[in-house]
Amino acid sequence: MTASVVDLKADGPKAHAARLAAEHEGASAEDILRAAAAEFGDGLALVSSFGAESAVLLRLAAQVKPDIPVIFLETQKHFAQTLSYRRKLAKTLGLTNVQDIKPDKDELAANDPDGTLWKRDTDLCCTIRKVHPLETALSGYDAWITGRKQFHGGARVNLPAFEHTGEHYKVNPLVRWSREDIDAYYAEHEIPPHPLVAQGFPSIGCWPCTHPVAEGDDVRAGRWRGQAKTECGIHGRV
Ligand code: SF4
Repeated sequence: MTASVVDLKADGPKAHAARLAAEHEGASAEDILRAAAAEFGDGLALVSSFGAESAVLLRLAAQVKPDIPVIFLETQKHFAQTLSYRRKLAKTLGLTNVQDIKPDKDELAANDPDGTLWKRDTDLCCTIRKVHPLETALSGYDAWITGRKQFHGGARVNLPAFEHTGEHYKVNPLVRWSREDIDAYYAEHEIPPHPLVAQGFPSIGCWPCTHPVAEGDDVRAGRWRGQAKTECGIHGRV
């Protein structure tokens, strides 16, 4: 943990995060990223799914810190298009430290030997393929950057720009961006979109748990369709 973070945690990390959020209320995504880089230094990583909206945050981060560690949870259940997009985008944006983090082999062998756990228990499947690998990957960091936005709805409507949950600070630079802001950024900077967006996927995760949505539906309506589950669990536990 960096010395500055240790000092500032004297009044508790949640109070520290709340202060950072208040100080950067209304700040641009670039300013929030720069503030996070200054605050957490080498203790800062970015977690990206290389999904439908990911390129905005990745491009902004590449401009502030091209060697920032970018953690991609390689669940081994991604669409082939996502894996190819992850490679293409990292190269296009000049990100030099993208890390593919895979599930633990022993945990997979014990709980999901034939790869069909998602049919029986999506919570356990996400725990093995996302939550536990992320816990391990982030163990050396103080803070991580997420791409969550308030307009996604659900548990995200009141997100602040800085928060502290579990063992880490979380930085949400795009928290106040709208669908229109994102579309405008893609158009202005000619960023290649995820190839599945044009096929009706506004939110993209693992192939077994991601479906296209109808025009006007909630952005995440196609995730774990037919289940009460709306999040993979990493934001409640890591
Ligand atoms: S999103 Fe689906 S396939 Fe991916 S880890 Fe979660 S349950 Fe498994």
